[in-house]
Amino acid sequence: MKTYRVAVLAGDGIGPELVRVTIPILRLASYLYGFELIFEEALVGGTAIEATGKALPPETLEICKRSQAIFFGAVGGKQWESLPPEKQPERAALLPLRKTFSLFANLRPVTCYPELIEASPLKPEIASGVDLLIVRELTGGIYFGQPKGRVLTEQGERAIDTLVYDTSEIERVATVAFEIALRRKKSLTLIDKANVLESSLLWRKTVKEIAKNYPEVELKFMYVDNAAMQLVLKPTQFDVLLCENLFGDILSDEAAGIAGSLGLLASASIGSTKFGLYEPAGGSAPDIAGKGIANPIAQILSGALMFEYSFQEEEAAQAIKDAIRDVLKDGYRTMDIAKGSSTYCTTEEFAEKVAQKL
Ligand code: ATP
Ligand code: MG
Repeated sequence: MKTYRVAVLAGDGIGPELVRVTIPILRLASYLYGFELIFEEALVGGTAIEATGKALPPETLEICKRSQAIFFGAVGGKQWESLPPEKQPERAALLPLRKTFSLFANLRPVTCYPELIEASPLKPEIASGVDLLIVRELTGGIYFGQPKGRVLTEQGERAIDTLVYDTSEIERVATVAFEIALRRKKSLTLIDKANVLESSLLWRKTVKEIAKNYPEVELKFMYVDNAAMQLVLKPTQFDVLLCENLFGDILSDEAAGIAGSLGLLASASIGSTKFGLYEPAGGSAPDIAGKGIANPIAQILSGALMFEYSFQEEEAAQAIKDAIRDVLKDGYRTMDIAKGSSTYCTTEEFAEKVAQKL
């Protein structure tokens, strides 16, 4: 039987409660579709700082290295906000993980399910049919470019951030985006600011070159300011959006807003191999942690993404997505998306219903 090893890093806040209810669903899907999952739990984030002094202990990294995927909850919380920036759970755990495994592409699918159209802040006729995926470059651009820092000038303090991209960094993430577009509606929009940024011109040139290998995929270009507007005016025009790091960061949060709750959106961080890190788009949500009310959909969908991208178990992934929709059709909702005639349920109850549907 095909066997996949998964490092389970539940982390802080709502992370552990979401991961705990999701694991049985993933296990059940694996039985139904004939493969085996070996889960190995490891400490990460603030929880790991408390236990070992480190946000990403060496044992955790070892477990990740012998796995094919990382199933991640969330990290962070008020208790660790006073630590120096480089020791904060997010920076000290997620950044090194992305670096170690060279996870340069962040994928965020955004779907407006017909059953959940009322959760979207957009008018139903605009939100209806939204099914897009943002591919964000994750390890380059203005967040990491050198020089970076503060200098004192005669006019006062000056701050410097540098936006740098090499052709090879663009090529690899563009290839990921085209491969995904090929399996979807075969349309890719490069988001840039080519009217003012030199780096955007290199993105356009490089992406056009890569596009030659994918003649079936329609390639479009859009300035980021216009894209920000189009996302709320006519989001159905998009299939795959390819963005550099900063633009992708901003647009993926905007796209999250379209769905209506952070609790609905999954994300994947992948590289050139099948290895990937899968986590909800939201964070540790300290405001609702420990109350049993968090929406588990994002975490469950992150598992489906893992099946799809790391294991090529598309049928199992689809079955999980269908099960979630069936539960929504029956009217069950967690608090973040509950409205009108829906039946309120807890994190655990919702997950149990998904398992039953499956
Ligand atoms: P972090 O620093 O870890 O990102 P945060 O305080 O920014 O923490 P987020 O996790 O980003 O919090 O969440 C932002 C808002 O979305 C919060 O009000 C949170 O309750 C809500 N939220 C996030 N995830 C979920 C979820 N799974 N279910 C319901 N609400 C959620
Ligand atoms: Mg946040």
